[in-house]
Amino acid sequence: MTQMKSRIDGLKDKLVLDVSDILIEILDASGLSRQFTNEDTRENREAMLNLRNLYEMALKFETSHGRELGEFIAYLEILDEMGKNPPAARILEENAVNLMTIHSSKGLEFNTVFVTNMAKDRFPLFRGGVEPLIPIELIDLYRDLLKQDFSSRSKRLSAIRELKREIKLEEERRLCYVAMTRAREHLYLTLGIQYGQRERHPSEFLVDIGHDNWRAVDQDEVDVPDITYLRDSEVSSREVIRDSEIERIKTHRKKLVIESLDSGSFEESMGHLLVYHALRDGNGEDYLDIINSNWGELDPAGHAKEILDRDGSNEGIPPPSDVTFSVSAVNTYLECPKKYELQHILGMPTRDMEKSDGAMNIGSFVHKVLEKAVRQKVSTKKQLDEVTLGLVKEDKWKWVDMVKAKPLLDVFWQRNKDSIQNNMMVEKRFTVLLGDHQFKGFIDRVDLIPGSDNKVEIIDYKTGNEPGPVERSRQLLLYAHGFEHMYPEYRVQKLTLELLAKEKPRVYELDGEEYTASRVKPLDNDALSDMVDAADNILHDYRYGFDRIDDDLVCKRCGYNLYCG
Ligand code: SF4
Repeated sequence: MTQMKSRIDGLKDKLVLDVSDILIEILDASGLSRQFTNEDTRENREAMLNLRNLYEMALKFETSHGRELGEFIAYLEILDEMGKNPPAARILEENAVNLMTIHSSKGLEFNTVFVTNMAKDRFPLFRGGVEPLIPIELIDLYRDLLKQDFSSRSKRLSAIRELKREIKLEEERRLCYVAMTRAREHLYLTLGIQYGQRERHPSEFLVDIGHDNWRAVDQDEVDVPDITYLRDSEVSSREVIRDSEIERIKTHRKKLVIESLDSGSFEESMGHLLVYHALRDGNGEDYLDIINSNWGELDPAGHAKEILDRDGSNEGIPPPSDVTFSVSAVNTYLECPKKYELQHILGMPTRDMEKSDGAMNIGSFVHKVLEKAVRQKVSTKKQLDEVTLGLVKEDKWKWVDMVKAKPLLDVFWQRNKDSIQNNMMVEKRFTVLLGDHQFKGFIDRVDLIPGSDNKVEIIDYKTGNEPGPVERSRQLLLYAHGFEHMYPEYRVQKLTLELLAKEKPRVYELDGEEYTASRVKPLDNDALSDMVDAADNILHDYRYGFDRIDDDLVCKRCGYNLYCG
């Protein structure tokens, strides 16, 4: 209790923070952020994704409503009352059937989709749903109707009911459209001919797409363009038969097992359980032996070992088939596999994340200015300043700290004013195959080398520290490889890190098979194959779990340490 009280007291000091930042403090102080990372199970991953969703809601709330925790809680309560809770995060399995409501399928796509229950009064459904919180007098859709004169109250109510029904029908129609458009290749729309004792007509949404003659179909299949009608008359389920004497005893015995678990008597529970199993399996003799035997003959540890061994040899969770790797993701993985999972798979928030309000993202701002300025091929400092001022006026960048950004832009101008005119392209994305894996990258700028018609210089802007030699090799060699893959007619002659916060840029030049630079070692040509190995390991860990690094110093500096420990 003392510990909990001191944690809550500690949180009081954080109330001055934005609601999303307070949320991170609460996750950390309550231990919730660590609760789900020890065991790599589907449930734990989904729990983590739900924490992330909550954080993202807080971020959105900040930009549109305000920073106060109390207001955010009130907002969540209103959502709850309106039945508008966001759907819980679910991990989709690629090679499995995913069951979901249409609402939670929004934004997703699948090769094959089944929409079931396409029967009248089942879909569209007119019952259910939440009554609007706002009185209908204030809703535009009802305004014209409410102005009309009705001869009696009951006629008025009936007209309102009819309009509500129409509105609901349109909502359901939109929902049906969402469901049908989730399918990339095949869409199956199914309905039962009978539900219980009643025969049902097809949904009017099926009629809308031309399925109006289902009773006339007497062949097994009728083909019309793009649609195949298929009537399956095989009886695949039967009515549940009434309980026999033995079924009743089994049900009773099951109840006794549960009750005896509460009573705390192990022998009694085991007795009921064994009788239940004997009845269920119809193999009384063996169980009778066990019942009559000494309890000491039961060996739960042996069974547990058997189960654990089986679990250890399983195939794990299959990795997604379309993972694309980046240099920064590989760097993160090689620093700590767990960090890769938290950052690149689960996307968990941290204390030092950049916020979209631009307060911290000087790097992004400088990149944006340089992209625009180089694209326009500015030829004077005044033009560069105009580009800068134009961006600062935009909402996204209005909080950027210009005192810190300006010196970086000045350095850029001093070093680049004579080379901007050589520019060929900016902000170039690429994807390239390394080994069996797709790698992607984002090149800031490509210039044609003066005096040549096929040699280029790739330039990457850095507004912070220079990456270490290993990271430099990975990034620059991947960029060169990716660029030459896209434009085989060009040769990358120079690879430049434009270090705007340092005295000089770092320039590597192709010399034979190597990229060399003064005062440092050449780029390591093995870096690309090392990245392929790392990608193999990442896919392995998708299956069997991502380990934590055992290095307190690294963990201390790591922004994700609120999830570890
Ligand atoms: S705190 Fe340590 S173990 Fe956890 S993600 Fe960071 S580096 Fe990895």
